[in-house]
Amino acid sequence: MKQTVVLYPSAGVGHVVPMAELAKVFLGHGFDVTMVIFPLPFKSSALGASQVEQIAAANPSISFHVLPAIAAPDFAGSGKHPFLLMLQMLRQYNDELERFLRSIVPRQRLHSLVIDMFCVDAVEVAAKLGVPAYTFVPSGASPLAVFAQLPALLAGRQTGLKELGDTPLEFLGVPPVPASHLIAEMLVHPEEEMCKTMASIFERGMDTRGVLVNTFESLESRAVQALRDPRCVPGKVLPPIYCVGPLVGNGARDGESTERHECLAWLDARPERSVVFLSFGSMGTFSEEQLKEIATGLDKSGQRFLWVVRMPANIDDPKRLLEKECELDLDALLPEGFLERTKDRGLVVKSWAPQVDVLNHPATGAFVTHCGWNSMVEGIMAGVPMLCWPLYAEQKMNKIFMTEDMGIGVEMEGYMTGFIKAEEVEAKIRMMESDEGTELMTRVVARKKEAEAALEVGGSSYAAFVRFLSDVENLGEQLARSAMD
Ligand code: UDP
Repeated sequence: MKQTVVLYPSAGVGHVVPMAELAKVFLGHGFDVTMVIFPLPFKSSALGASQVEQIAAANPSISFHVLPAIAAPDFAGSGKHPFLLMLQMLRQYNDELERFLRSIVPRQRLHSLVIDMFCVDAVEVAAKLGVPAYTFVPSGASPLAVFAQLPALLAGRQTGLKELGDTPLEFLGVPPVPASHLIAEMLVHPEEEMCKTMASIFERGMDTRGVLVNTFESLESRAVQALRDPRCVPGKVLPPIYCVGPLVGNGARDGESTERHECLAWLDARPERSVVFLSFGSMGTFSEEQLKEIATGLDKSGQRFLWVVRMPANIDDPKRLLEKECELDLDALLPEGFLERTKDRGLVVKSWAPQVDVLNHPATGAFVTHCGWNSMVEGIMAGVPMLCWPLYAEQKMNKIFMTEDMGIGVEMEGYMTGFIKAEEVEAKIRMMESDEGTELMTRVVARKKEAEAALEVGGSSYAAFVRFLSDVENLGEQLARSAMD
């Protein structure tokens, strides 16, 4: 009987997409894979429900099981952060998850339960069923090293890390990180529920049998070593770290759908490496003022561009995720005459573009990114140099790793003030055409080659996955022996 791996992704495109890529790796090694999805009562496309449908349609070999919906808390009116409410729901989904796993056990041999780092409560379900649980980190080893060390840094603090402002903090394995660059949820007072919850997630995420990370060893060797160093979290032995990435899709080549997005046809008609692509993840939004400023910068730069624009919103307002995006009126939103003036060299796409396809299109020459981990590894795999404009989550840290450690990006300096001026947009985009831009591209292409080598049979990521499989097998034998004793 084939063994079945159950994958349990968190909500969010950036979580679902790399988990589906991990599913394909398991399939390639002869496993059956079931992805278990917990439904949330939101309309926002950023949460990945439509991605799940697309991935399911494109990958009939992966089984999908959607848990029966449970009663949702009052997301709009409770006053609590939606993320905390989602975690509360996730805990409640444990019963449904357990019921589902018990229902398949008589028919299928469960290999392991691989849970997204935010789904740590599911470890209890795995323990009840005697299935080994592993954590999946859709992000990288450097942010993970910081997350692992943060709870100890917070312990005993009387004030929030926010008070430290830009003070650089030392973490093993990564360059100094200004306190202001940590994830916002960890900057509040350590006794606040959000901070305590995040710290607990990071601690418990490291209590599983091992951690699969969406990276490759040579990209972040220092951070990977730190995670294997007993000094990383004093008094705690961290589980094995398996760098099995980068887990990046093949865009349209993966899908069944033959409908090609109009922006790809537009790119077909542009010269090689001549277009700057601007895209800010599944949740990146700007104020109207900032959108106008970007447009002015693009206008003045004279460069070709492909820009994904979303409805203006306050990026710090989590409630925006509860709503479905409304239709955009680009003419009203962007400076007068901008679309007409730039129509021969620029294309503005509403809300969403097929990013992997765009990045891999020969016409794409640079990528202005919000530094989401998936976007970054997609940029590497496409060999496209990046301009870093971090917005939320762990992106400010990622920017540090991208610019200081990996050498694959240049920062948009205004990001810390929350507003980037047209002059900087123009100057940085022009810079991509200079020697500096060419050097940056050379470094990214070198990283791409490293990544490809890591994924090949015998490469570091391939070997890490094989090691993971062998560790699970040894663990299974150990558990069986101890059950007999
Ligand atoms: N994405 C896309 N089109 C868009 C915006 C995003 O295909 O217009 C995809 C992108 O390719 C990536 C994911 O959405 O796979 C975003 O993940 P990331 O970790 O970069 O950022 P997040 O959305 O989690 O902040």
